[in-house]
Amino acid sequence: MNVNYIFITGGVTSSLGKGITTASLASILENRGLKVTIIKLDPYININAGTMSPNQHGEIFVTGDGAETNLNLGHYERFINTKMSRYNNFTIGHIYSEILKKEKQKKYFGVKIQVIPHITDSIKKHITNLGNKGYDIILVEIGGAVGDIESLPFLEAMRQISIDVGKDKTIYIHLTLLSYIKTIKKIKIRPIKYSIKELLSITVQPDVLICRSNYTMSSFEKIKIASFLNLSKKVIISLKDVNSIYKIPFLLKKQGLDNYICNKFKFNLPDTKLIKWKKILNREFNPKGYVTIGIIGNYTKLPNAYKSVIEALKHGGLKNQVHVYIKLISSKLVNDQGTDLLNKFDGILIPGGFGSKGIKGKLKTVEYARKNNIPYFGICLGMHIALIEFSRNVVGIVDADSTEFNLNCKNPIIKLIDKNNNQNNININFNVKKSLQGKMRLGNQICKLNKLSLSYQLYKTNYIIERHRHRYEVNNFFINKLIQHGLLIAGKSKNQSFIEIIEISNHPWFISCQFHPEFISNPHEGHPLFIGFIEASMKKKLT
Ligand code: GLN
Repeated sequence: MNVNYIFITGGVTSSLGKGITTASLASILENRGLKVTIIKLDPYININAGTMSPNQHGEIFVTGDGAETNLNLGHYERFINTKMSRYNNFTIGHIYSEILKKEKQKKYFGVKIQVIPHITDSIKKHITNLGNKGYDIILVEIGGAVGDIESLPFLEAMRQISIDVGKDKTIYIHLTLLSYIKTIKKIKIRPIKYSIKELLSITVQPDVLICRSNYTMSSFEKIKIASFLNLSKKVIISLKDVNSIYKIPFLLKKQGLDNYICNKFKFNLPDTKLIKWKKILNREFNPKGYVTIGIIGNYTKLPNAYKSVIEALKHGGLKNQVHVYIKLISSKLVNDQGTDLLNKFDGILIPGGFGSKGIKGKLKTVEYARKNNIPYFGICLGMHIALIEFSRNVVGIVDADSTEFNLNCKNPIIKLIDKNNNQNNININFNVKKSLQGKMRLGNQICKLNKLSLSYQLYKTNYIIERHRHRYEVNNFFINKLIQHGLLIAGKSKNQSFIEIIEISNHPWFISCQFHPEFISNPHEGHPLFIGFIEASMKKKLT
């Protein structure tokens, strides 16, 4: 096994952009010709990220194999070719739950179970197991910042891996905040000293220091920090704030980080000019116009709550070479203040969501987009809302609803997923409470497209694979009525029982899907639905 490890820890504070930095570094290494993957270790107790509120934690990213993970996995997939899976993210809660399960099964034969070696061994096993898949380098991003009590087992495991596999096969990168005090025009390195001290106290000496700041470090300052850390100046990397995340691979490369890594791991490889990223920057900074897109949702204070949707819209912009202005508006605000709030938008998107909060405002939003011929893109919950609105206001089923928001509704257009979803049975799920504890439909599903649809024109293929995360589905009992009133079924699951994409025929661009296309979009190719949506929004802007 010839795998090498790069561990990335955070210093002074979290939220320094460790995810994007890790992804950028991995991308440079991939462009040098290496096979890389990334693991994110999360120090919180939740067994998976799926149980956490996007308001607190940001988006839940869904992998192809159906794991609900930390949003940084989204950055990884957008930056590198390797696809993420359930083995690329685990929490300390996950590790503990496995150990406790084994304990219950009496697999420890009466020994005392301890953080060292049991928890640390299990962490090591999860990391090194990925090493069997032929990677040259595994990058391991450790969530939070050093000094957090909860990340200690991860740091200890990372220390031990270096002993297990050899120091020449591990690199420790510490990404930390470099404070710059504007009024006195001085950098302050004391906070960095404290975070390094934390690492040294567990006998981990960082090999590389990445200093995040709103300031470019001088050579003199690099030497000063390097000497304090017993390092050479060439491994002190300045990561100043930039106006595009796609500049970060260039920032790291310019300072020789990939050369340092290739030398240390003894990879003799041709250099890369990062042409792929140059093309992206060229498109990003030479737009031919702009569009304004409104995302109407519940989590408007934290843009990270809709991270992949926002990125996929931008990718759609890159493909059309237009700048995409994105505005998040709370659906409650639309309900309280009316749809005039929406008239500045060239396109409207309702993203995924859970529960009954904000539904009224979302219904008003879809009605507005439908009646005013504004391109509308509904994702998961956004499709449910579109169908309820259509059923009420076009078909005339005035009390049409979803059992997610109205448990006892008489006309459940949307209902819990259930295998008896046929056209002859209204299928109100009486055992709702019990079923709610049932499984979410997660991860990759195959969908067959209708050749007469706009979606087919965009995807240009018969079958697509998209990622899902939902518990409710379209009730097939109502579908013929909806079709008679102008609804087009653009895609169905392979077994034909799930309705996966709908369109409204006499509208310029009205597409809603049950899946989450945002999770598979990347800046290089974009995603057919997002590209089509931005194109339609441009057309709308010109009318
Ligand atoms: N709450 C809806 C469901 O569970 C939609 C989910 C979503 O938007 N991801 O089906």
